[in-house]
Amino acid sequence: MSSKPAKKIIDFKLDDALKDYMTKQLNKTRFNPRELRLSENGSCPRKRVLRALGYSVTHPMTLDDAKNFEKGRAIELWLTNVLDELYPGEIIREFVVNHPYGDPIGEGHVDIVWPSKKLLVEIKAVSEERANQGLPIQGHVDQLMGYLHYKKDADGKRYYTQGKIIYLIIGRYGITPVEYPVFYVPEKGEALEAEMKDLWLNHVLKEVVPFVPKDAHAKGFPCYWESTDLKGNTCPHYCEFHGHCWTEDSFLDDICTELDDPENKELFAEYHRVRETMKALDSENKKLRDKKGVLEARLSRLYEKLGEKKLIAGDVQISRAVIKGRVSYDIKNALECGAVDMEAIKPFLSQSPGYERFTVRKVKQD
Ligand code: SF4
Repeated sequence: MSSKPAKKIIDFKLDDALKDYMTKQLNKTRFNPRELRLSENGSCPRKRVLRALGYSVTHPMTLDDAKNFEKGRAIELWLTNVLDELYPGEIIREFVVNHPYGDPIGEGHVDIVWPSKKLLVEIKAVSEERANQGLPIQGHVDQLMGYLHYKKDADGKRYYTQGKIIYLIIGRYGITPVEYPVFYVPEKGEALEAEMKDLWLNHVLKEVVPFVPKDAHAKGFPCYWESTDLKGNTCPHYCEFHGHCWTEDSFLDDICTELDDPENKELFAEYHRVRETMKALDSENKKLRDKKGVLEARLSRLYEKLGEKKLIAGDVQISRAVIKGRVSYDIKNALECGAVDMEAIKPFLSQSPGYERFTVRKVKQD
């Protein structure tokens, strides 16, 4: 008797495909990498600059982060669809707001712009536990304030002076929407812009990364935090740039204050080594800059003589562009001469945050 061959079981696992999809979504970025993100207003300045300068991510987001991200995205999309259905043609989704702190320009994405109600809306999904710790979250208010600050009409007027953060609180038995109004406060909007300006001009453009904030901790938020999964296991979450700020043993609680301890001797020795190497590289860089100047003087004569912008000799192509000098004003001098008034320039004043300076030198041992 011949038996029928058993039907082959299709080897297809949807959960694996979804896990893969979610992880890939995290790596897909809709942001310009070289910009300060409005959505990160008020968050760690060091992180914002590291990201804008293209530093590598040392702690990529995990599958747990991806699941959380997708949960938020799905719920936010649900509310946007509902609003679209209730108020057809009235809302604009994912509206782009430009700001000057990006190369070539910075972009923020407002969840919803509602012209007929003169409203900007941000939708956030939060867990019941997070909501119990207090809403609204300051970072979300700052984010919306940033959108209100930069969203202007073509003639430069601010049409939107009010926004709403709609929190969708995800509980065990359903979703509860709660809304918080946010009004544009010029002083707050200008303070956020002053912070972005300082980070962009004094840090991103000069490639100077701000120090680790004094109140940051290797094992505390926003550098590190923990959540619990469905099985009750603890899931660690790291800031993506954790490795640029902390080493595995740099937990302040455990810091050793004995200067004779090998740990501190090594810390000081390593700091000295780093500074010496930087000094050597700086001096090498200076020599190279001098040499570059001499070579450029020769190149300049050659390009003048041939009247060309681009030349090739051997396998090297060199282009020459003549850049106009930058116009700048000596405000200090102008103030001293009384040519400008301190009161008049006060609104344009910004002060960068202070910083620590360490001076290092070898000392003689007894
Ligand atoms: S690890 Fe902490 S200090 Fe470092 S960039 Fe991230 S949030 Fe800022």
